[in-house]
Amino acid sequence: MRLLIMGAPGAGKGTQAVGIATHYGVPAISTGDMFRDNVKNGTPLGKQVDAIMKAGDFVPDELTEQIVADRLDQPDAQGGFLLDGFPRTMHQVDALDDYLDKHGHSLDAVISLDVDPEDLIARLLKRAELEGRADDNEETIRHRMEVYTSSTAPLLDAYKSRGLLVAVDGNGTVDEVGARIAAAVDAKVGR
Ligand code: AMP
Repeated sequence: MRLLIMGAPGAGKGTQAVGIATHYGVPAISTGDMFRDNVKNGTPLGKQVDAIMKAGDFVPDELTEQIVADRLDQPDAQGGFLLDGFPRTMHQVDALDDYLDKHGHSLDAVISLDVDPEDLIARLLKRAELEGRADDNEETIRHRMEVYTSSTAPLLDAYKSRGLLVAVDGNGTVDEVGARIAAAVDAKVGR
């Protein structure tokens, strides 16, 4: 199973990614988590992306694409994966297509997690309290929303036109939304 999960900041991608990946027995691969780990460990990559992430901007495409390719090369991702937070630009969509083509693979479904816009900010501010993420302050949140709308939301149309999009109502409890996603993906891939 090769899946993507997409949605606005605060839609619950990370939380749902873990549950869905477990459900299908594939690794959940979050570019945001990989970058945060590097920042925390003070690696050269972490030093490179720290300020970018704090500002709510995108890490450069080539760098992000390389990290994803390296991660997808790992043994545990050979049978499938769920990518959380990648791709976020059309350039990244093309890079993922090239990577999969080269390996004779293709995507099975692209999950779009749809949450009422007015709930997103509240969710992010709550997460800021709970997790203390450096990019969960009001100014950066607003900027990340704008970047999502202008750069990432259009990717949903691209995947929709390929017949891959599975739009799921992301309002509700973690379990409710998780069950909804699994049912929708199962229906899509004919399980
Ligand atoms: P996330 O945890 O997915 O919200 O990602 C947190 C931050 O990591 C983003 O605001 C970006 O700065 C960076 N990031 C994560 N994924 C990507 C990506 N695919 N392209 C560029 N930057 C990314």
